[in-house]
Amino acid sequence: MGFMTTMAGTGLNPCCAPGGQTFALFLDGHSKAMPKLVGGPFRYNEYAADSLVKALKFASKPMMQAVIAPSMVSLLMPLHAEVPGYTREQFESDLVDECEKDIRKAFAAGAARVQIDFTEGRLALKSDPRNPWTDANLLPRFIELISRVVDRFTPEERVNIGVHTCAGSDADSNHSAEVPYSSLLPALFSINAGYFTIQAACEEDKDETYKMIGEHSRDDADGIPQICYVGVIWCQNPAVETPQQVCDSLVRAADFIPKERLGSTDDCGFQPFAIDKKPAYGSPDFARDIAFEKIASRAPSLRRRNSASDRARRHWSRQTSLRTGWGGWLAPAAARACWPGLPGGVSASALGPRKPARAPSLPSSCETLRITFLGPLLGFVSQPAN
Ligand SMILES: [Zn+2]
Repeated sequence: MGFMTTMAGTGLNPCCAPGGQTFALFLDGHSKAMPKLVGGPFRYNEYAADSLVKALKFASKPMMQAVIAPSMVSLLMPLHAEVPGYTREQFESDLVDECEKDIRKAFAAGAARVQIDFTEGRLALKSDPRNPWTDANLLPRFIELISRVVDRFTPEERVNIGVHTCAGSDADSNHSAEVPYSSLLPALFSINAGYFTIQAACEEDKDETYKMIGEHSRDDADGIPQICYVGVIWCQNPAVETPQQVCDSLVRAADFIPKERLGSTDDCGFQPFAIDKKPAYGSPDFARDIAFEKIASRAPSLRRRNSASDRARRHWSRQTSLRTGWGGWLAPAAARACWPGLPGGVSASALGPRKPARAPSLPSSCETLRITFLGPLLGFVSQPAN
């Protein structure tokens, strides 16, 4: 998929060359640069389904597969740049076709759900003069590109197509946490996706985040409700959330978000760019163990909520979205997907009583695990901090 095969730069897409624009400047000073488009027609090198089939060999539960967003790939064509004989419109048209194909192939390969990773949504609002594309009002175009893809799917398919937003997560740093969600969420929820995984655990004002999610997410996104998985696990912080903390976060979120459309998730991948560097955790090996502890914290919290006297909250107690991203973790991560005792997944009742015909046919005990190799697949080139 995408435009490069490995982080070392091998397998560069034949339509690309090194030397594209900076993608992100992270808070800790490191940055990521992209290749640049030099010709067309653009086709992916490989598809997310290619890694999914490998992961599925280790999984005994339904899997969620992440795919790259068309908005991210669109940045291969630098701002104001032109490619001889290949217009931006042609490129974006090819891109939308490829992204649709990526999603369909993932479902065909066995993904229970497919999630479009949209980390660049919040970054598009950063207006950082050091990184000109973030100051070019690209968010509307990004939303349009994703919508062009999502709207090609039926309501039944869109129930299982999600969009992820975050402030970035790489080497325990972020690229856009200072951008207020109020600028992003109204546009984000205009996408007719069936679910959203939203970084929230590390937000300074969680109540405001929950409130905006509740206000802007929709009961009816062209025939389906939008399920909101709020982040309850802070992936860049080694402190392991207790089940009680997770529980409290969800109970509080339910004050703002309709409970039949509320679920929990981790804020982001634990290391979605596949660089084994976790400075906040000390060593990567330690970080792996902690990451699984943090993920597991969301399971007992669900049981705790089930035993609560508030029966109305039982609806969403079974909803959870287990996601992790860490290149090189394929086998162990997939094996962990088979952990017994992790309740959760999307249940038919989770979608609410209003549109039973749209309910997914996933088993109620399904667990999903996000296996991400975004780093090597995207071909990001990591620049160390000066
Ligand atoms: Zn993320």
